[in-house]
Amino acid sequence: MQSANEMPRYPLFINGEYCEPASGEYTQVINPATGDVVGEVAMGNEADVDKAVAAARNAFDNNSDWRRMSPEKRGKVLKQCAQIVLANAQELALLEVSCSGGTLNRVAGMDIMAVADLFGSLGDEVTQFPFVEALPTRPLPELVNTQVWREPIGVCSLITAWNFPLLLFAMKVAPALAAGNTMIVKPAEITPTSTVRLVELLNTVLPKGVLNVVVGAGSVVGEALTLHKDVDKVSFTGSTSIGRHVQQNAALTMKRVTLELGGKGPGIVMPDADIERVAYGALWGVYMNAGQACESGTRLLVHEDIYDEMIQRLKEVSEEVVVGNPMDPATGMGPMSTETHYNKVMQYIESAVADGAEIVTGGKRADVAGCEGGFFVEPTVIVGVKNDMKVACEEIFGPVLSVIKYSSLDEAIAIANDSDYGLSAGVWTENVVQAQQIARDLRAGSVWINDWHMMRTDAPFGGYKQSGYGREFGKYSISSYVETKSVSTSFERNPAAKKMHKIVHTKLA
Ligand code: NAD
Repeated sequence: MQSANEMPRYPLFINGEYCEPASGEYTQVINPATGDVVGEVAMGNEADVDKAVAAARNAFDNNSDWRRMSPEKRGKVLKQCAQIVLANAQELALLEVSCSGGTLNRVAGMDIMAVADLFGSLGDEVTQFPFVEALPTRPLPELVNTQVWREPIGVCSLITAWNFPLLLFAMKVAPALAAGNTMIVKPAEITPTSTVRLVELLNTVLPKGVLNVVVGAGSVVGEALTLHKDVDKVSFTGSTSIGRHVQQNAALTMKRVTLELGGKGPGIVMPDADIERVAYGALWGVYMNAGQACESGTRLLVHEDIYDEMIQRLKEVSEEVVVGNPMDPATGMGPMSTETHYNKVMQYIESAVADGAEIVTGGKRADVAGCEGGFFVEPTVIVGVKNDMKVACEEIFGPVLSVIKYSSLDEAIAIANDSDYGLSAGVWTENVVQAQQIARDLRAGSVWINDWHMMRTDAPFGGYKQSGYGREFGKYSISSYVETKSVSTSFERNPAAKKMHKIVHTKLA
C-alpha cells in the first residue's frame, strides 16, 4: 500500500483483492488536527461500482457459500472478525484518529471495543435468530404446514459518514454479514483509511466478493450504489438532505432502505435535577467527538428556577475541557473534520448572536500548540436561545450547546418535540418515575435518563421523524437485512377433498 514517495495509498478492495480505480485517480487524506496529508485514497467511479456489484452479486447468486452457510458457522466467522479487530486495534485506531480527528482516548477506548463487540455479540445473536419459524398447523380448510423463513436480502450498498468511520462500518457490516448478505461499503471520502484496511483484514476470513469497498465522491460512487439495478438494499448513514435523495434513488428499483440521519437532541433539565451531574453529563453529551455526533444533546432545556445556577456551572465545566491534539491522551476534544465544516460551525455561532442569543463561553477558534493548521472550535455554550432560532433548529455538528429556558413541563415537552429530528432525547431529574412518563412523550428513537450517549450494542438505535428509519445494533439490526418468506406445504392428496378448489372446480364431487 506504499506509493513511490512512501505516502500510504489506499486502493479499492474488490472480490478479495486490492485493485486500482478505473480512473487511476487518487485524492489526499488530510489530518484535521494538523492539516497534514496522511495518505492517498483511490477515487472510484461508476465502472468500479459495476465491478464491485458484479463481485458481490456473484458471491451471492453463484458462489453462494456465504448465504448458504449455517448461522452457527457464520457466527463463528463473525467472532473471528471480532478477534481480527482486537488484534489490529492499535493500527486501526491510529488510522482513524489521523484522518477523523476523533481523540485517541475515544477511538481506542470506546469505538474499537464497540466494533469488536458488535461482531462478537452478533456472532452469538445470529445463532438464536429466527431464520426458520414454524407456524402452528391449521386444520381448516385443509392440513397445511407453513414455515416463515428469513433470508438475506442480497447485495447491499452500505454508505457511511465521516464522524465515526469504524463504528458506522460495523453497525452495518456486522448485521449484513450475520444475515448472509454480500456488500459494497462506501466510506466517506475524507475518512476512508481505517475502513479500507479493515475490509482487507476481514477478507482473510470471508469468501471473496462478500465484502468489497469502493471509495469515492458521494455524488459519483454513492449515487451509483443507490441507483444500481443489481443492488437490493441500501443502508445509509449521513445527513438528512442526502438521506432523502438516497431514498428517492432507491425507490426507483424498490431497494430496501435503512436511513440513519441527523439529530437535534433535546435534554430536559427538571427543577429537581442535580446541577453538578447535569453540567458534566450534558457537556459530555454535546462535546463528545467535538459535537460531531448525530445523537448529541445539542438543546438543553432548563427550568427557570435553576436556570442561572445551571448556566454558571455549565460555563465553569465547559472551560475545563481540554481542546488539543487528538493523539494526546490528555485531550478531551479534537478538531472539526475539515476547514469547510469549521467555517460552517462558526457561521452557526455567529447566527445565534445575530438572532439575539448570548455566548457565555467559547465561540471562537481554539489555538492548539503544535496543531496550528488544525480546525479547532472552543467548547461553546449559548444561552437565551429560542427554539425557532437557527442554532436550535438545524444540526450544527460542532461543540455548541444551545440553552433554552422553560417554565412548565408541558412547555418543555412541546419544545423538545418541536423539531424535524427525532434521534435522541433525554431527561435530567431525581424523580425517575416521572422521567419514565416524560420518556413516553418524547418523540425520539433513544431516550436517555440522567446521562447521554447511553448507546449499547444490544439496544436498538435509530430515528423517529426526519432522523431516518430502521434500527441498528443487536438482533434488531439483523432484521434490517432479511426478507421474509412464507413456505406452505399441502398434505391433502385427494383433489375432491380440497374445499378451496371447489370455488373454481364447481363440478368436483
Ligand atoms: P453526508 O450526508 O454528507 O455524507 C454521508 C455519506 O454519503 C458519505 O459517504 C458521502 O460521500 C455519501 N454521499 C454524498 N452524496 C451522496 C449521494 N448523492 N448518494 C449517495 N451517497 C452520497 O453526511 P456527512 O457530512 O458525512 O455526515 C454527517 C451527517 O451524518 C450528520 O447529519 C449526522 O447527523 C449524520 N450521522 C447520522 C448518524 C446516525 O446514526 N443517525 C450517525 C453518524 C452521522
